[in-house]
Amino acid sequence: MLIIKKVRELTAVIASHRNNGYSIGFVPTMGALHAGHLSLLSAARRPRQLSVASIFVNPAQFNDPADFEKYPVTIENDIVLLEKSGCDILFLPTVAEIYPAGWSSPAPYDLGFLETVFEGSSRPGHFQGVCRVMERLLSIVGPDNLYMGQKDYQQCMVVGRLLNLMSSACSLHTCPTLREADGLAMSSRNMRLDAEARKRATGIYQALCFLKAGLRPGPTDPILDKAKKFLDNNAFKTDYLSIADARTLAPVQQWDGLQPVVALAAAWQKDVRLIDNMVLTETRQPIEAGTVIS
Ligand code: AMP
Repeated sequence: MLIIKKVRELTAVIASHRNNGYSIGFVPTMGALHAGHLSLLSAARRPRQLSVASIFVNPAQFNDPADFEKYPVTIENDIVLLEKSGCDILFLPTVAEIYPAGWSSPAPYDLGFLETVFEGSSRPGHFQGVCRVMERLLSIVGPDNLYMGQKDYQQCMVVGRLLNLMSSACSLHTCPTLREADGLAMSSRNMRLDAEARKRATGIYQALCFLKAGLRPGPTDPILDKAKKFLDNNAFKTDYLSIADARTLAPVQQWDGLQPVVALAAAWQKDVRLIDNMVLTETRQPIEAGTVIS
């Protein structure tokens, strides 16, 4: 695996592979890698495709400076994991390389309704920061295929919109969420959970499974109220737990039994904010044994 820190060097290596008929597959990350990240990389490893991963903790997308300060950094371990996974290139830029002096921030991205709900309303400016770094990374790497995780459902929609705004021909591949054995979605932030919070953290997944198993045509409030109560009882401070249209994220108060819907959750376990989601209208899975929500 090549580790490249400079934009100029990266663009030269990518151009030479392109000239040799390779496509470019790109997996952007903020590091502290886990199996979820590596699953994106394995999707990117295709014949005649150069796999490029980036690690860059983007200050522009942290609306809370304390969250940025506390973001885990495990770069040596990340390099070992990427090497083992067969990654071709790791792009590891500095902040100055991504946002050089003289680089001016583009005009705000028109993200429309997407920026007004869920992560958009809870973390003002977050998606503008995501778009800023993604536009920059996309213009540097120039991928044919971009791999991102459904774990960040709304982010995938935002990046899809950014690709449209950029008139990019790059294909976005949304990859399934990888989970721990107890259902907790893998996340770099999980390593900040203490033993007690880690045990309870699976409650988000259980609440989503409960919604998936119990959703019926009619008003969505009653089942959401039960799921929220379950989170309360497990010491979560819930930011949001909602059912929304899976294609637009418009909240769904009344489900007609046909509309594709997703449940989205963000909740704090002590000082760690966790997010997760589940498409409720995909094939239903049986609820985990031992999960009791009433
Ligand atoms: P991050 O490093 O948190 O910015 O994540 C980098 C990419 O990995 C994003 O596209 C995430 O959606 C994806 N990702 C994070 N957690 C998971 C997971 N548990 N399963 C699959 N993809 C994930």
